[in-house]
Amino acid sequence: MPLRVERDIFVLRQRGREVAAAVGLEHQDQVRLATALSEVARDLLLGVGGADVVFAVAGAADGQRHLRVDLAPVRALPDGRYEPQSGAVARLVDTLGVVTVEEVTVVRMSRRVPATAQALTSERLAQLRAQLGKSSPGTAEEELATQNSQLIAALDEVRSQRDELARLNEELEQTNRGVLALYHQLTDELEETNRGVVALYAELDEKSAQLRAASESKTRFLANVSHELRAPVTAIIGLARLLGDSASDPLTSEQEQQVGLIRSSASDLLALVNELLDLAKAESGRIEPELTEVDLRAVFGQLRGTLRALHTGPEVELVVEDPAPPATVRSDEVLLAQVLRNLLHNGLKFTTRGEVRLRAERGTDYWRLVVSDTGPGIPAELHERVFEEFYQVPGPTRVGGTGLGLPYARRLVTLLGGDLELASAPGQGSTFTVSLPADGT
Ligand code: ADP
Repeated sequence: MPLRVERDIFVLRQRGREVAAAVGLEHQDQVRLATALSEVARDLLLGVGGADVVFAVAGAADGQRHLRVDLAPVRALPDGRYEPQSGAVARLVDTLGVVTVEEVTVVRMSRRVPATAQALTSERLAQLRAQLGKSSPGTAEEELATQNSQLIAALDEVRSQRDELARLNEELEQTNRGVLALYHQLTDELEETNRGVVALYAELDEKSAQLRAASESKTRFLANVSHELRAPVTAIIGLARLLGDSASDPLTSEQEQQVGLIRSSASDLLALVNELLDLAKAESGRIEPELTEVDLRAVFGQLRGTLRALHTGPEVELVVEDPAPPATVRSDEVLLAQVLRNLLHNGLKFTTRGEVRLRAERGTDYWRLVVSDTGPGIPAELHERVFEEFYQVPGPTRVGGTGLGLPYARRLVTLLGGDLELASAPGQGSTFTVSLPADGT
């Protein structure tokens, strides 16, 4: 379309609206585009004497279709630039600026066509062209009337939007007040809960201090009592031995039997007292491991010797595997031997057929010392309980003993910086694993 005289501005505005409607722009957008077009047209008519206007629908980079209007000025734009007289014009459309089309600088504006608009097939385009060709441009008065009615509609819309906004604001304020009240309520509740938690913590602290004190007095009590008991019990054993001695007056066979009973009971008692004393010492932190380079082969050799002499059952074999050299670990030799002896002793005590085995496995920075047996095994639910003081698994494995060996062994292993784990199931033997850091840390 040519833009040469003032009347063309009206025509252009009218056509702009018609094209916008035809491609599916909403009513408000039609008015916006028509207004922007007439403003730019007026600028170009006054500034460069007019332009040629082309409407097109094109796909844009965002994948959407856009209605595009190119206004090619009849004379070159000053400095090849264009700024609308009114700054608000650019806000009426999506893009407004100059582009170069086939070496000509044109002013281009575009507005996005809604995705819901009917697709533009070539048939529909032809139809639109025919429709536009037929409709003759109205007079300036008619255009003025149209503009007026659009203005009234726009004002009306602005007012209803303002009313809606006021209503929304009111609603928002109410919601805010509600949220604020809720927030205060929550803060109060939180504060109250916090006070409760603080009080609870204070109580917990007090309880754990009491527990610590109780545990310390228990240890002290055990240590004192066992210490006090040791001397008389040793004396009883000595006296019983004297009574049974061949140098003493002969005893009747019944007396001999009774003295024997006294001796074995006193020996059991002494063993218990000694174990209690050991455990109390470990718990009170009075055992300080002396770390040296321990040769595991030597320790294993010693255990092999002492335990072989002790166990006599022909149906159980004691196997102590020699660790491959170099087999050294930084640890306390006495404590470590005590732990392993304890575990092997248990294995031999509870296994009636098969074997009890000790072997060592070297990891990158740790040693695993494994004592396994083919004994009765321990049910999974008791795996932690057997490490509790005085606990003994009910049933046939309750063969003497005190229930203090495993808790003591675990204490010692912890003191050595490692841990003691049990894997076992009834009928499948037991495996106790002592894991120790190779460098003692
Ligand atoms: P004690 O051997 O003096 O009874 P421990 O603390 O050494 O005490 O062991 C606790 C209990 O764990 C034992 O009484 C026994 O029931 C069970 N137990 C320990 N070692 C084994 C094992 N190798 N096989 C089966 N049961 C075991």
